[in-house]
Amino acid sequence: MKLYSTNNKSKTVNLSSAVLQSLPEDNGLYMPLEISPLPSSFFQKLPSLSFQEISYLVAKQLMGDSIPNHTLKSIIDDAINFKAPLITVDENIHILELFHGPTLAFKDFGARFMSRLMNFFLEKSGKKVTVLVATSGDTGGAVASGFFNQDNIDVVILYPKGKVSTLQEKQLTTWGHNIKALEIDGNFDDCQQIVKSAFLDPELNNSINLSSANSINIARLIPQSFYYFEGYKQLSHSQKNINFCIPSGNFGNLTAGLLAKNLGLPINQLIAATNINDVVPKYLKTGEFNPIEAHHTLSNAMDIGRPSNFNRIMDFYGSTWNKVKKDIKGYSYNDQVTINTIVEGNSKLGYVFDPHTAIGYTAAKEYNTQFKEENTIVLSTAHPIKFKNEIQKYIDFSIPYPTTIQYTLDKQSDKKQLSNNYNDFKNYLLSK
Ligand SMILES: *Cc1c(COP(=O)(O)O)cnc(C)c1O
Repeated sequence: MKLYSTNNKSKTVNLSSAVLQSLPEDNGLYMPLEISPLPSSFFQKLPSLSFQEISYLVAKQLMGDSIPNHTLKSIIDDAINFKAPLITVDENIHILELFHGPTLAFKDFGARFMSRLMNFFLEKSGKKVTVLVATSGDTGGAVASGFFNQDNIDVVILYPKGKVSTLQEKQLTTWGHNIKALEIDGNFDDCQQIVKSAFLDPELNNSINLSSANSINIARLIPQSFYYFEGYKQLSHSQKNINFCIPSGNFGNLTAGLLAKNLGLPINQLIAATNINDVVPKYLKTGEFNPIEAHHTLSNAMDIGRPSNFNRIMDFYGSTWNKVKKDIKGYSYNDQVTINTIVEGNSKLGYVFDPHTAIGYTAAKEYNTQFKEENTIVLSTAHPIKFKNEIQKYIDFSIPYPTTIQYTLDKQSDKKQLSNNYNDFKNYLLSK
């Protein structure tokens, strides 16, 4: 597999460099040079394939001979070891539950796959890396869990003070060993900016081998394309067009949908659902992309005003607005609508949405009032129990935490507080 930078198509690297380096030096994003569609024989046998078999074939198609077949197979069997069931909740609306991994959010897919792939490439080269991850909540927990005890990788997590839930904070701060948590006095965009500055700082990069586990790393996106095929498979008896609706923040998940589409999955529409941080729905409406300061909302994992995968979406479409808006529809909702959907989902559908999935469902519903004869699969990005405190205010929601989560909640936190000043962070890293 060869990859280019969105800022320079002529210079390519192999998968191992893209995964270990994360960001190209020219500050672009790595994109696959070639994506060839899966053959029709794959789609014929799709209904009878297991999720792991699908994942292997999709990965193989993208990654080619970047890693040996048996290694790829064992990475997938180890990383993708939980289910992604499709639940029909409403006429023509189906929820693809991506939250059955260890941290109860879809980010387990990306983190578990990436850690194992990175570990394979590091072992081969005899190197060590420090992975930096900026998180608005769920990424850090999934990365900490996915990377815990990987000998060749230190993980440094930056999260915004006061903007993650109690459980999320526990999932970031209770690991120890190779996992360090930094509480930054700022918002998520500050955390992301610090990480970006670190990658562009030659002095720092001379002394530490840095990498990233944010969705800017292509290794996060590859496994996220697998479950589009898995969701599609579970509806393959239906004759109707199939759409995917994606609650979005940094737009990694939606970009993975574009990977799946380019791999030949017949996705009719992608529907981007955001909270009031609506720069992409606005772009789809007006053709203008204006990043904003992130606003804090109930769906905090989507509180992003400068979505880092936007340039990948542009790259897929040669920055042609007319093409983008044909394939991707955008909707955004505020917290009040989110709450109304959680309440109605519970009373009318008997299904409890977490705030992110609630936004996805609302968008699917709005889209479907116009396109009644289509099926829409909403990616459910988090288990509602992760937002128990928030949800409990509005509905009677009293299921207990799973035992693994209770165990995390009972553990002691260990975090370091830092300002949102890049130099403080740099000094911290250099003094380690
Ligand atoms: C990260 C996250 C999102 C947003 O995903 P992107 O790939 O950043 O668009 C949505 N919901 C939840 C629960 C998340 O953790």
